[in-house]
Amino acid sequence: MQAGLLKTFTNPVQSRRATAWLLSAALFVVYFMFYFNIPPGMEGLAAALGLDSRWTLYGILYTIAIIVGGGFFLKRHGNSRYHRVRTISLMFFQIVFAFSIPMVMELFGSKGFTFSIFWPLKIDYFYPSNIFEYPVLLIVYAFVTALIGVPIMTILFGKRWYCSWMCGCGGLAETAGEPFRHLTSKSSGAWRFEQAAIHSVLVLAIVTTALVLINWGLHHTNGQGEWVASYAGFDAVASKVQGVYQFIVVAMLSGVLGVGLYPLMGNRVWCRYFCPLAAILGLFQKFGRFRITVKDDMCISCGNCSTYCEMGIDVRAYAQTNVSFKRAACVGCGICAHVCPRGVLKLENKWDFRQGPDQKVIKIFDM
Ligand code: SF4
Ligand code: SF4
Repeated sequence: MQAGLLKTFTNPVQSRRATAWLLSAALFVVYFMFYFNIPPGMEGLAAALGLDSRWTLYGILYTIAIIVGGGFFLKRHGNSRYHRVRTISLMFFQIVFAFSIPMVMELFGSKGFTFSIFWPLKIDYFYPSNIFEYPVLLIVYAFVTALIGVPIMTILFGKRWYCSWMCGCGGLAETAGEPFRHLTSKSSGAWRFEQAAIHSVLVLAIVTTALVLINWGLHHTNGQGEWVASYAGFDAVASKVQGVYQFIVVAMLSGVLGVGLYPLMGNRVWCRYFCPLAAILGLFQKFGRFRITVKDDMCISCGNCSTYCEMGIDVRAYAQTNVSFKRAACVGCGICAHVCPRGVLKLENKWDFRQGPDQKVIKIFDM
């Protein structure tokens, strides 16, 4: 079932050769066509197919990519129960929660709501303009899941409950993006960029949300009952920041670059460098139960684990020195343990930070 693992570097599209650059360019073009509706126009194509908008077409294509990619992943790694269950979970959440439920809601005339996406990944769930379009129960759900559910689940189970089991972005990365996981950079420069970039996006998400909420709090209504900003200057700044976030983070980083760079920089470009929800999950993961345990003196330094870590973690460095670890970036995909020929690694949820007869304290590296 592991056949093909070592062919990764002989396949041109998986090793940054011309076909990989062409595929990347094609993904860029497709994403630009969706986000900016540039000619020939996805809106027209969607209409020709009898769909109500280009975003329905996008949802269909995205879901198909996860189903087909999931089939590929299961063929390759389905001998592991962990990978069977989490891949089926990712496909289920995409098909049911991310695609079908919002579409059915729209068919019944209400605004679609995705139960499997939380603030700040879905930043508009905290925008007043959205809040008042949803029933109060959905707003309560959005706030409770983001502010209470996410921290509790992450402390108990690590980031993996979301990034590798539920999230749509993670779903595409783990399925259609699977062939490119080894392309993630393991350099210290990439790690420093990750630290700076992901926390900058998180700060930007918090600032943007705060500005929009404060601006709404400062408004008043005129004689006709219309919404009027009390401070025109503040209103202009809040609108500008909101627009910049939408363009840079939502359109460019999560879509165009996040997926377009799969064939060149690996399948977790968005998740590793830019996702503000991943930044929050990582902070809670540091204090939670999840860790990767290393069996003492078993590692033969083959490097499979580091090569196939999609988050750029040098797992081998921990294994060689018999150090179990927690890393904020780790999405708990479990591939490092799966490809290890010596069974050195184990993903665990345990409160105790000690192991073995000598009660060795597990070090918690950097993030
Ligand atoms: S360390 Fe292992 S479980 Fe964590 S992201 Fe890397 S490959 Fe996946
Ligand atoms: S895959 Fe296993 S044996 Fe190979 S370097 Fe990693 S921990 Fe060591």
